[in-house]
Amino acid sequence: MNCPICRQGATHAATVTITLDRPADGPGGSTTVVFRGVPAQVCENCGEQFVDEAVTAKLLQQAQAAASAGVEVEVRSYAA
Ligand SMILES: [Zn+2]
Repeated sequence: MNCPICRQGATHAATVTITLDRPADGPGGSTTVVFRGVPAQVCENCGEQFVDEAVTAKLLQQAQAAASAGVEVEVRSYAA
């Protein structure tokens, strides 16, 4: 697809690293989860990353689970 941000470049499939920060909302600390190998479309011109809605939902779900488990920082591979 054509990049909707810069309107110059084309995007291509790649895997990216996504960091999700979840602020502390209680007595526990904040949670940071780094996902590697996340499938995305990346613009060859501006480098903007576009992650699928379904993939984003999965990442948020896993970050939420990590937060519930009291994880502070975690690096994991994206599992479809
Ligand atoms: Zn672009």
